Amino acid sequence: MTRNDLILVAVLIIFSLVPPMNFDSKKKIAVVKVGGEIVRELDLSEKKIFTVEASGGKNILEVKGGAVRVVEADCPDKICVRRGAIKNLGETIACVPHKILIEVVGE
Ligand SMILES: [Zn+2]
Repeated sequence: MTRNDLILVAVLIIFSLVPPMNFDSKKKIAVVKVGGEIVRELDLSEKKIFTVEASGGKNILEVKGGAVRVVEADCPDKICVRRGAIKNLGETIACVPHKILIEVVGE
């Protein structure tokens, strides 16, 4: 091996030791508020489905693929269901009839 070969090998070893870059390492949390009070905090890296009970009815939320959405609701307008999934900081889903607000916040 020449000197250059040794340098190449050394560089390859160093790169193999560096962990892969994670550009989206900041953990995202969504808060679920009912009537202005936080009833639940969601880790968006998880995968789950659950029900939020409000005075006027209930909404079924799904957390998947780093996003949260309302999959089912018994509110009259269904605006929250049509809103689709949210995943970016500051995005919200509101269910006005049930006074439910879901907001993506930082950690
Ligand atoms: Zn709704």
